[in-house]
Amino acid sequence: MKIIKAGSAQGAASDIAGELEAIRAFAKAELTEDEVYTFGVLLCDNEIDRDFERFSEKTLEELRELFMGKTGISDHRWSSDNQKARIYRTELIRDETKKNSLGMPYVYLKGYAYMLRTESNADLIAEIEGGIKKETSIGCAVARILCSVCGEDMGGSKCSHIRGRTYGGKLCYAELVGAVDAYEWSFVAVPAQRNAGVMKKFALHGGLKGFVESDEGRYFYAEYRELEKSAKLGKRYLQELRKEVLRLGLLCDRELHGALRGVIGQMEDEELLELKRVFEERLEDRFPLVTQLPGRDETVAFDGGEYLV
Ligand SMILES: [Zn+2]
Repeated sequence: MKIIKAGSAQGAASDIAGELEAIRAFAKAELTEDEVYTFGVLLCDNEIDRDFERFSEKTLEELRELFMGKTGISDHRWSSDNQKARIYRTELIRDETKKNSLGMPYVYLKGYAYMLRTESNADLIAEIEGGIKKETSIGCAVARILCSVCGEDMGGSKCSHIRGRTYGGKLCYAELVGAVDAYEWSFVAVPAQRNAGVMKKFALHGGLKGFVESDEGRYFYAEYRELEKSAKLGKRYLQELRKEVLRLGLLCDRELHGALRGVIGQMEDEELLELKRVFEERLEDRFPLVTQLPGRDETVAFDGGEYLV
C-alpha cells in the first residue's frame, strides 16, 4: 500500500566538512564545500496525521534505511532534470521534550539532503533558505495498515471501525506497519492540492464504490460499508412499510387496492406513514378492539370450588 506523507525542510546543515564525507558515498564527482548545498528534511514522524494515520517507531526505523540515497524532486514532477536533491544521511530523532498526541515521546525521521550549487538550482536553494520551499511530501509502501482499536487490518473483514471516530474513549486511527519501500520525496507548493487530486480520480473510478475500493479511497471503505448497510436497512424498511399500507388499504376497501398498488411505489416514508395512520384509524372505527380483560365495574366470582380436589 502506497503512502504519501507531508514533512518539511529544515535549512542548512551546519558542519559541511563533516557532511562531505557522507555525500561522497553518493556523488560521482569529488565535490568541494563550495559546490554543494545541504539541508535537512523532516520526512515523517510518529504523530497521528490528518488522514488519521501514524507510523510506529519501528516503521520509522525501517524507513530510515530505505530513504538513504533517495532523490528528491520539486513539485511532484518526475523527470531526470527535475531530480534536484539526494538524501545522503538519515537519522531517527527522539525529542523527549515533545510528546505526540498519544503522549509518547515525539520521534521523527530526518533526512539530510544535498544539492549542487548550480545556476539552475540557485532559485530553489534561495527558496529553501528563505523558508518558501518548506513543505515536503514522501511516498512509501507499507505491508499493513492496522486499526488502533482492534488491531486487525483496517478495512478488512474483521474490523468495522472508522478512523477519526472514538470507541469507548479510544481514538481510532491507522497504524502503518512494516515499511516495504521508500519512493521519491518532493517539495510541494501547496500540500492540500493532493486532496483535490483524489477527488478528481473519484469521478473516473466507476462511482463511489469504485473509489472506496481504489488505493486512494480505501480510507473511506469502512465508512462506506457502514452507510451501505444503513441504506439496505432503509430500503427494506420502506418495502415493508409499503406492503403494510397495501394490506391495510385492502382491509379498508377492496376497491382501493388496485389504485393503491399503482402509486405506492412512488410514495416516500412520510406519506406512507400518514396513509398508514388514516387506514388504521378507519379500521379502528370499523372493528374496535375487543378487550379480553374484565371491565372496571365487573367483579370476578371466585368461590374456591374449582380448586377443590
Ligand atoms: Zn478495528
